[in-house]
Amino acid sequence: MSEKVPEIAPYKRGFACVDGEFVPAATASVSIFDHSFLYGDGVFESIVCRGGRLFALRPHLDRLWASCQYLQITPPYDQEQIAGFITELLRRNELSEGYVRVVISRGEGYPVSDPRKAVNPTLVISVQGAPAVVRPPEVGVKLAIASTRRTPAICLEPRVKSNNYLNHIVAKLEAIAAGADDAILLDLDGNVAELPVANIFARHGDVLSTPPSNGILAGITRATVLRLIAEGATGPELTVVQRVMAAYDLFTAEEVFIVGTGTGVTFVETIDGRQIGDGTAGPVTKRLRDAYTELLRRGELEPQLASEGA
Ligand code: PMP
Repeated sequence: MSEKVPEIAPYKRGFACVDGEFVPAATASVSIFDHSFLYGDGVFESIVCRGGRLFALRPHLDRLWASCQYLQITPPYDQEQIAGFITELLRRNELSEGYVRVVISRGEGYPVSDPRKAVNPTLVISVQGAPAVVRPPEVGVKLAIASTRRTPAICLEPRVKSNNYLNHIVAKLEAIAAGADDAILLDLDGNVAELPVANIFARHGDVLSTPPSNGILAGITRATVLRLIAEGATGPELTVVQRVMAAYDLFTAEEVFIVGTGTGVTFVETIDGRQIGDGTAGPVTKRLRDAYTELLRRGELEPQLASEGA
């Protein structure tokens, strides 16, 4: 009888980097007493890599630093070192296109939640060649408004990109149960916040609206899109406003799209079963998607840490 060789999941192929060591991803491990595993006591970033260039590496690492600072976790390496680990990991995995995930946990501590027990933060970096969802440009997302709400700042500051995504996951479960691809999370007041891992925009005529950045994770793709618009990618007519938005503002829009490192710029087809616009990608979505794709290809927007000072 021939023995069945277990398949390795694609995301486990190649190497990962744990505390500066390059180890096979399939067997890479962190302690069972790690605070992120026990309590979600850690932070993370996802970074896209195109043509061997890491897009917006500096803003991602700055946000990682801000998240650490807020949670009083001291990053175990400096930004240059982390940039070096990422570059080396991509090289070892022979990847020039893909997604990088950087996680910093408060580290191992005796299993009580007292943060003073975890004194050596853990760094884990993994890379993937492909996004979790591959969506051709003509295919949009179907969204459902979840009853689960975005964490308000009085519970956990939403600008911190922490390893606490449980309400996002519960919202996504709700969306899946409703036959949608993804969820829209409202805030405690019932205003539109964001998606589990993306930000949202809606266009009415020449006005593009998006919720203000203080009640959401202020996405780097969101900032990039705002910058592309300011630089004229969508023509001179379009005005952008960051404002409190209700579900009404989504239902009545001519186009709605979502943005994020994993999703890129993707149009929204339906929300709660209601078609948005004509159900296809709107003109502003298309222009921004093209401009963003081009920017990733050129990789010129942000200086690359690794090449700085060279
Ligand atoms: N909101 C949340 C809650 C997220 O997790 C993400 C993904 N990082 C985003 C928005 C989009 O942010 P970015 O464009 O920086 O990937």
